[in-house]
Amino acid sequence: MKLSSRAYNLYEAFAKPGCPVCRLAVDSVHHYLDSVIYEYVTKPHTHEGLRAARGFCQQHAWHVIAEINASALGVAVLYEGLFRTLLNEMGGESKLGAKRQIAQALNALKPQAPCPACTHQATVEDHLLRNLIDHIDQDEFADAFRRSEGLCLPHLRLALDRRADTDKQARLLSLEQAIWQQLQVDLDEFIRLHDYRFEREDMGVAGTSPRRAIEQSVGARDLRH
Ligand SMILES: [Zn+2]
Ligand SMILES: [Zn+2]
Repeated sequence: MKLSSRAYNLYEAFAKPGCPVCRLAVDSVHHYLDSVIYEYVTKPHTHEGLRAARGFCQQHAWHVIAEINASALGVAVLYEGLFRTLLNEMGGESKLGAKRQIAQALNALKPQAPCPACTHQATVEDHLLRNLIDHIDQDEFADAFRRSEGLCLPHLRLALDRRADTDKQARLLSLEQAIWQQLQVDLDEFIRLHDYRFEREDMGVAGTSPRRAIEQSVGARDLRH
């Protein structure tokens, strides 16, 4: 099997729970935010990007506080610059009246660029999906994908809705449909066993089917879609 390093990461992620693209994208965004907070805190382009975006989006901003250890100083440095800029650009009372004052503030509050972590995520997702499609004609890679929990619905849509080799896209789609057919069978089994008041432990793979169904429909909790 000949795999690029991205495809090898995917191959390894197939064996783990959840959508493999979500899993790798979550990891990559976490490392990106970690490096932004620690290593690039004094780099001007990081400051500019974050000021233009008016800060990280809600998901990534809370991720920084909750998941990046000892992030407080980095956040303080980056966001001091952000609020200084906001206050400057919002202006003060205008001689031209309240209407003008509000219009200027509204304009200043508007993001002028996307969240830099969202931009990073989109790039990573793009690379992962390209590599997934590129290698799906290799049987060993395809078999490992078939045994995974499958792409979540948002990532399946992104995979199919891109310019790529359509034969490979169709193979990916068939594999995903086989995974979802099994999921549907497992959910049905879960319902049947529940009726008989079996313990969850007796359910085997059907026992995890509700969690898998949620993840397959919306993707990983930690990933912004
Ligand atoms: Zn996903
Ligand atoms: Zn974001």
